[in-house]
Amino acid sequence: MFFKDIIGQTETKQRFIQSVKEGFIPHARLISGREGTGTLPLALAYARYLHCTNRQEEDACGTCPSCQKFNKLSHPDLHFVFPIINKKGNKEAFCDDFLPEWRKFISETPYAGLTTWLEAIDAENAQGLIYARESEEILRKLNLKAYESDYKVMIIWLPEKMHETAANRLLKLLEEPPEKTVFLLVSEEPEKIITTIRSRAQALNVPPIADEDLARALAEKQTISSEDIALVIRLAKGSYEDAVNIIQSTNENEAYLDLFITIMRNSWTRNVVNMKAKADQFASMGRDRQKGFLAYSQRMIRENFLYCLQAPEINYMNRKEAEFAVNFHPYVNEVNIIDFMGELALAERHIESNVNPRMIFFDLSMKIAVLLKNKN
Ligand SMILES: [Zn+2]
Repeated sequence: MFFKDIIGQTETKQRFIQSVKEGFIPHARLISGREGTGTLPLALAYARYLHCTNRQEEDACGTCPSCQKFNKLSHPDLHFVFPIINKKGNKEAFCDDFLPEWRKFISETPYAGLTTWLEAIDAENAQGLIYARESEEILRKLNLKAYESDYKVMIIWLPEKMHETAANRLLKLLEEPPEKTVFLLVSEEPEKIITTIRSRAQALNVPPIADEDLARALAEKQTISSEDIALVIRLAKGSYEDAVNIIQSTNENEAYLDLFITIMRNSWTRNVVNMKAKADQFASMGRDRQKGFLAYSQRMIRENFLYCLQAPEINYMNRKEAEFAVNFHPYVNEVNIIDFMGELALAERHIESNVNPRMIFFDLSMKIAVLLKNKN
């Protein structure tokens, strides 16, 4: 991550660059801002700039030995602390146990938040935490001599997730900071960090990304039409991560609707060959998307049922969904609605209990073929 890779935030970048040029390197900074505004990318770009041995006016050089190590996020004087989970069979996990996943996460999705990170390490329902024992690791790392550069940099992502014991030990470190050590606390909820830590760190609030900067980044990095960008920008409120999530869910919805329409048509025409082909497609989607599709289908059935009750005020369909409903809604009615919903919910439960998805889907198509005969 370089300063040039950061989306917008021109003023904040300048503050970092200027402070390095002036030799003003606070031993602790609290960089806070909403998820998706670029707090972690800024910390990474700042650390790279600080370590670069051939600093340019506005950014790190990208080619010096230090920069080369930053490319792999493996600089020996760059340390990371972040929320983790206790994996089964490994009750005493440390951040370093998750370093490969962490490096991948911050190189591929530096704007993402805790939810994405916990998915990346298969946390399931576990909450991410910075455990008390991590503080010993922090101490050990800081007691090491700086290998290659003037500064040791420790990036602590989401210090608000720190166990109290670890927080108190961190406070001691901030009160008597080891020489040439820079702590970068990257927080989304600084009010949850103990005040004594907050008061020892130079605060830097990262604002939401300006709309025009966000629009430019989305046009460059995402597949989205210029009309849709305006809507996404309005909803994302300056968070790149939110914008990406909105785009993904819209794209996914469209794919789900296409599949939904195809299934209904195949079942109506009793086209067994196509039913089988769609079952193959469904099986290749992956479990989360299979479940997502079945949940989406239940919503569509419900909406079409409400459509035939002539109650537009309780109808939540987008334009494309509503277009399909014009002709489809008579097929969902009081005779079959319960069975329709029941079959879709059953399929969802079967996916969860690892029944063969191809069979689930084909079976569902056949049942739908019967249900569709009950047209109003
Ligand atoms: Zn460099």
